[in-house]
Amino acid sequence: MSTTEPSPTPRALTFDCVRCGLTVSALDPDGRERDHCPGCLSSRHVVDHDGDGASACDGRMVPLSIAVPRGGVWVLVHRCVRCDELAESAVAADDNPLVLMRIAVRPLADPPFPLDLLGEV
Ligand SMILES: [Zn+2]
Ligand SMILES: [Zn+2]
Repeated sequence: MSTTEPSPTPRALTFDCVRCGLTVSALDPDGRERDHCPGCLSSRHVVDHDGDGASACDGRMVPLSIAVPRGGVWVLVHRCVRCDELAESAVAADDNPLVLMRIAVRPLADPPFPLDLLGEV
């Protein structure tokens, strides 16, 4: 006999960040549902991005890089530390700009080729 029936979780108004422990509101300043922490930009793998349902993974998702699609709105690319799945999420208005910039300039700060080469092009 099983007592573990899937109970519909009520929509939480806040959640605690899995990485830094910050309690954040579930909605960003623009009223969109938040999927990552505005402080450290970490996320949790709770959505199955291949399908459209919930994911059982629940791994921590670390911000990997920033993509800028047409339109110029920054998009954060997360990778799950448990299953390596990649996910995109829109940057929120109150996301930590320092952390965003650190991720954005990371490739420039450590290029895989000598920067002198650029002067010769
Ligand atoms: Zn956090
Ligand atoms: Zn995962």
